[in-house]
Amino acid sequence: MGLRIALIFARAELRRGTRIKHFMVPPYSLQILSALTPPQHQVRIIDEYHRLADPNLQADIIGIGVWTAAAPRAYALAEQYRARGIPVILGGPHVTVQPREALSHADAIVIGEAESVWEQVLQDVEQNQLQAIYHGEPLSLAQSPAPDWSPIQHNDYIAQVSMSTSRGCCRSCDFCYESCLPKPNYRQRPLEYVLKEFDERPFPVIAFIDNDLMIDRTYAKALLTALIPKKRFWLGMTSISTADDEELLDLMAASGCRTLFVGFESIQPESLREVHKGCNRVENYLRNITRIHDRDIMVNGSFVFGFDHDDEDVFDRTVQFGIDARLETATFTILTPYPGTALHQRLDAEGRIVDRDWGHYDTTRVVFRPAKMSADTLETGYFSAYKNFYSWSSIMQRCRRHEAGFGQRLLLNVAYKRVEPLYRFLNNPLPAGWLRSLFHWYARAW
Ligand code: SF4
Repeated sequence: MGLRIALIFARAELRRGTRIKHFMVPPYSLQILSALTPPQHQVRIIDEYHRLADPNLQADIIGIGVWTAAAPRAYALAEQYRARGIPVILGGPHVTVQPREALSHADAIVIGEAESVWEQVLQDVEQNQLQAIYHGEPLSLAQSPAPDWSPIQHNDYIAQVSMSTSRGCCRSCDFCYESCLPKPNYRQRPLEYVLKEFDERPFPVIAFIDNDLMIDRTYAKALLTALIPKKRFWLGMTSISTADDEELLDLMAASGCRTLFVGFESIQPESLREVHKGCNRVENYLRNITRIHDRDIMVNGSFVFGFDHDDEDVFDRTVQFGIDARLETATFTILTPYPGTALHQRLDAEGRIVDRDWGHYDTTRVVFRPAKMSADTLETGYFSAYKNFYSWSSIMQRCRRHEAGFGQRLLLNVAYKRVEPLYRFLNNPLPAGWLRSLFHWYARAW
């Protein structure tokens, strides 16, 4: 008799302005575990950003994916299910960097990537011999299966399907979980696997969730060339330095790229140096954004506040940069020293970590002592940056009123930020369906 397996993506406590990102793309890692599960077992996946896990959930084993800000919720869930006699196994980035803490709330934990040990875990559960700690080794992505999408409700998400061509990163920025991991850890899936999976997912918009889809330009150009005849739309993440290569940009546009999430992090070179984000060249930002816009690709810029070189002016200067650059959308975050990262180690050594409640490590709260401003100023500046960037005046300037696509850009801005407070007030889920329709309309406008 097979096992009833519930895999839960635990939900962090959400604050203003942070909700929409969880509606953009489905989580990915739990679908990989589902694909690795032998067919005699049944798998349910529960994404708590859409539906909270039922306290009376019926399962033979529960696996919970844990990110730092969701750790308190994950631990509470684990204890609740263990009290009912259901074994709970925890995994994910937070567990990898805080294994002892995680193990105190679970029957077992997986440190590292779970693919290499998942079948062993299930065998051990069946034989009632669950071990306390499993060490997952990074596998070649030729050995990792395509995710199993059958347990996912695609219509919960704006991009109904996410895909990945790679794992890990060649870089090691101090604030990123990547700085905790043994290097080199960057691996690519064989191109034929990616294209086969792309063909098997007949949705109009695909979200690539690679840390940087264009990091290996030879691979990226081969992928994009193969995508051109498929006439689909896609969105993904990359570095602004990608736009140094105009041939690559041409291929991105021709293959259906309609929006890029770009980690600018800071408009100050000294802040980028401070956290070893060496691939970003501030002097090329405006030129490269223009190159992307010239190909009708939207830019969602991501910026971080709270670096040691940031002073009280950084909020207004960053928002003004976003307006001058005509960024379609922007995401702002407060620098967050996730445990295990190089940033956490440095701030801890300097005695500047002031809050160790992991639930506050959600990039909207200040958990360390900033160098050039008070914590209150940093938090207030963060919220004011959102308010000012999504003010009507800013939206009208950024949406390029006299250019094609103005209406689409305007509606996306309204949908992206200004409607969210209404839905929070009504305590309704965000309308992923009509946001998706809006995005499709935008994507087809050219
Ligand atoms: S922030 Fe981006 S570029 Fe830097 S290490 Fe993390 S994934 Fe890589």
